[in-house]
Amino acid sequence: MNHTINPVKRHRERCREVRADMGDYLDGDLESSAGAAVRRHVRWCPSCRRMLRNLTRTVSGLRALDAPPVGADQTEAG
Ligand SMILES: [Zn+2]
Repeated sequence: MNHTINPVKRHRERCREVRADMGDYLDGDLESSAGAAVRRHVRWCPSCRRMLRNLTRTVSGLRALDAPPVGADQTEAG
């Protein structure tokens, strides 16, 4: 049984996945496969690229404004 996937629908699902991964990507948790997928996606998806830009600005702005002295949950070193 062949079920043709609607490319638009597929694209939207991809966008959802990428946007869900953006938070971790900005945290630096996704330097491997998922991070690469985000980067590759935003290269051809303007709307996601725009969103990633906004997120990047927001995150870096928040970090600059209020940087916690100590408080890292990251115990595992990659
Ligand atoms: Zn997208």
